[in-house]
Amino acid sequence: MSGRATAPRGARGASDARVAAGSQGVARFVLLGLVGVGKGTQAKRLSARLGLAHLATGDLLRRHQEEGTELGLLAKGYMERGELLPDDVVIRMVLGELEKEACRPGCIFDGFPRTVEQALALDRAVGPEGVRKVLYLQVPEEVLLRRLSGRLVCRRCQTPYHRESAPPRVEGKCDVCRGELYQRADDRPEVVGRRLQVQQEELVPLLNYYARQGKLLRVNGDLGMEAVEEAILAALGLLAPRG
Ligand code: AMP
Repeated sequence: MSGRATAPRGARGASDARVAAGSQGVARFVLLGLVGVGKGTQAKRLSARLGLAHLATGDLLRRHQEEGTELGLLAKGYMERGELLPDDVVIRMVLGELEKEACRPGCIFDGFPRTVEQALALDRAVGPEGVRKVLYLQVPEEVLLRRLSGRLVCRRCQTPYHRESAPPRVEGKCDVCRGELYQRADDRPEVVGRRLQVQQEELVPLLNYYARQGKLLRVNGDLGMEAVEEAILAALGLLAPRG
């Protein structure tokens, strides 16, 4: 299979931020945050802005599933149950990606590492300075609860909607296929609350690991998409002073 990690898109006109990011060698950044904080969105934006590959393990595993590879078959059960895959499997996949041409200038990790074991393996592979900084996107829990528990999905074509931010034109009906909209069992407020709590508990050891290395940067994710991107670049010291 070819080209797994996504090469940067929208690469027109090298920005100052990109030049600054590249001037210090291979630029690898990790994005951390709970489900719903907008990690994937920011990873894509940063990838384009900084000219780095976007290495999203969830996306890679979904693509493996679509292509019916051995890894995809293995991943299916874990992903359907919402469980993490074994560390050694994910580590092997990520290290394979890192060797590809698309990752040569650097990459944005999205969804990896998820455990300290994975963080240790990454450090062993790229060296102690191989990961430059780790960005922790923070959004208050009540905002996440509102974002996640407002989600609706079409039963027929799976198009996602949101009660507040992206409602359908006709209540309860899909704009695309007129199918019935429903709330997934794991998006019900009581379940979402539990999912967030479990994720937060899993995140703490990773946050501590990177804080001890002096690499952890906390960024307010409760802003508009562009403002969060600017906040990330500012935290990384990659924004040219406005003149
Ligand atoms: P995501 O799209 O990042 O939410 O990931 C979807 C699913 O893929 C997760 O629920 C896990 O089953 C699996 N997965 C993604 N990244 C990892 C990882 N770093 N370690 C273990 N499992 C992962």
